Amino acid sequence: RNIIIAIDGYSSCGKSTVAKALANKLNYIYIDSGAMYRALTLYLIEHHISANDIEKIKSHLSDIEIKFDLKDDKTIVLLNGKDVTSKIREMNVSELVSEVSSIKEVRKAMVVQQQKMAENQNIVMDGRDIGTVVFPNAQVKIFMMADPKVRADRRFKELQLAGKNVTLEEVFENLAHRDYQDTTRKESPLTRSEEAIVLDNTNLNQEQQLDFVINEVKK
Ligand code: C5P
Repeated sequence: RNIIIAIDGYSSCGKSTVAKALANKLNYIYIDSGAMYRALTLYLIEHHISANDIEKIKSHLSDIEIKFDLKDDKTIVLLNGKDVTSKIREMNVSELVSEVSSIKEVRKAMVVQQQKMAENQNIVMDGRDIGTVVFPNAQVKIFMMADPKVRADRRFKELQLAGKNVTLEEVFENLAHRDYQDTTRKESPLTRSEEAIVLDNTNLNQEQQLDFVINEVKK
């Protein structure tokens, strides 16, 4: 059986950094499930479809194809064939993505695609419901958290480096908003699976975090 490593946790606590490093080290495929919800949200924005218009969203789901590809050694996100890697990190997407992700039909469609991506290959997938809903039988489950202020600070610096025009306050507010939405929604809320090992990285550097998860994988 192929091996699945599930990494869940709050927004911006470094899941993707750890997941990427781990996948790289183990030679597994890394899949960013949040990027899929973001790409779907971008589709709705571009098509002027409101997050409240569930019927309309449902009727569009089969027209939305989200794929990952490699370009110059980097993973890119394709929405119906178009590279949206940078666009899905914009604040307009960040502000809407949690509403969109709370829609049952949206989640169903994403989960099916995520499960397909794991067929016949070893993967590391990060998100909010990976160890609980997408792969309840994952061999390794990690639940990540960190101090909210530290998370906002890290994300703010990242967005600044990427040339995005935001304030630290906006980033902090957005994280708090998404945490609230993600943990209180009806459909697969963010919770720690009983088997998941907690990784609080408030005071850990990237190397220490990688060591921690590698150690869990070896167990
Ligand atoms: O991981 P990232 O922060 O980019 O995810 C963006 C948003 O997508 C999250 O705030 C959450 O609302 C949603 N999401 C989700 N389930 C996942 C991954 C992301 O609901 N597995």
